[in-house]
Amino acid sequence: MAQLDTRAKLAILADAAKYDASCASSGTTRRTSKDGKGLGSTTGMGICHAYAPDGRCISLLKILLTNSCIFDCHYCINRKSSNVRRARFTPAEVVDLTLNFYRRNYIEGLFLSSGIIRSSNYTMEQLVEVARCLREDHDFRGYIHLKTIPDADPALVHQAGLHADRVSINVELPTVAGLTRLAPEKSAPRIEGAMLGMRSAIEDGADARKRYRSAPRFAPAGQSTQMIVGADAATDGDIIGRAAGLYDRFGLRRVYYSAFSPIPDASAVLPLQRPPLMREHRLYQSDWLMRFYAYRPDEVAQAVDPATGMLPLDIDPKLAWALRFRDRFPVDVNRAPREALLRVPGLGTKAVASILAARKWRRLRLEDVARLTVSLAKIRPFLVTADWRPVALTDKADLRAWLAPKTEQLELFAA
Ligand code: SF4
Repeated sequence: MAQLDTRAKLAILADAAKYDASCASSGTTRRTSKDGKGLGSTTGMGICHAYAPDGRCISLLKILLTNSCIFDCHYCINRKSSNVRRARFTPAEVVDLTLNFYRRNYIEGLFLSSGIIRSSNYTMEQLVEVARCLREDHDFRGYIHLKTIPDADPALVHQAGLHADRVSINVELPTVAGLTRLAPEKSAPRIEGAMLGMRSAIEDGADARKRYRSAPRFAPAGQSTQMIVGADAATDGDIIGRAAGLYDRFGLRRVYYSAFSPIPDASAVLPLQRPPLMREHRLYQSDWLMRFYAYRPDEVAQAVDPATGMLPLDIDPKLAWALRFRDRFPVDVNRAPREALLRVPGLGTKAVASILAARKWRRLRLEDVARLTVSLAKIRPFLVTADWRPVALTDKADLRAWLAPKTEQLELFAA
């Protein structure tokens, strides 16, 4: 490998890391250095939190330790047979970069992943060394997210949890068949075994902290995973089912969905085109329905088109569900329980909380609800207020067309 300076390595290894979506820093503990000791903070002033429209946190230094890899996963730009330029940081270089960027207030923490070099254990040792050095040698108190290598020795993975806020292990593909076909060197049972081990370690760590304040923290922001969408034949129904199983079995904080993007010199087994980005967005919305809107996974799956197994792209899954189960509407905003209000398209969790608080004092009118939503037209067929009842609107045959965003005809001769 030719000698590269740090800037050149950074250009290669930051670019190589962009395919991993699982970097949001939500859910960690409030660790700060306001007491004058240590360096960094997960919450303090002066740290710029920037979020992409899909909710991804972008204020982390997000890099790979190396983009060399002994595996040959078809969908990955860093696979062994790929023709990309390779680079590799030493653990000391990553530590230096993190501290320097942190001091300049460019970042709030580090997201570190890696291709597999030499062996899973060797790679995991290098990742752990970065986190250990930041925490123990530099008393770094910022956020650290480590990607772990499923095949590595569980003792090493445990070390990762002792230093990192969040750890993640990618399941990669939504189905076992997809994984076998596109990442033949990876094994679904080994990935799941590692996630199960991580779940018990996180739960044990949390229990120990309840009993003894001096017990070490263990991955306080939990574990997450990522699935690639559109690289195999899995439908949205398959993906929703898989995500629900992952939340249930492994206690994940987040499942991230990453639309497959075609890579240079792609393998012939991959699709030529990326799926619509809106597909990824609709999957994130379906995920929110399970996590914040009390929909059971089988209910979210009812929003998919039974003929194709896919979520509609033109309307969100909550509206798709409501249109399919119109007998559950309209919902009376002055009487309905929280669970029923959460099902009204256009009402978010904050709007529902405001409704529940306000209706203790007075009966709500349509104009009161209008102040809590961006689209009154979207919610009118689904709710009853003191001065509004939709009569036949909810049963209109063309309600879907009426509520779907209107597609705009592009002007042929527009400047
Ligand atoms: S193991 Fe990871 S880095 Fe290596 S080819 Fe597979 S997905 Fe890419």
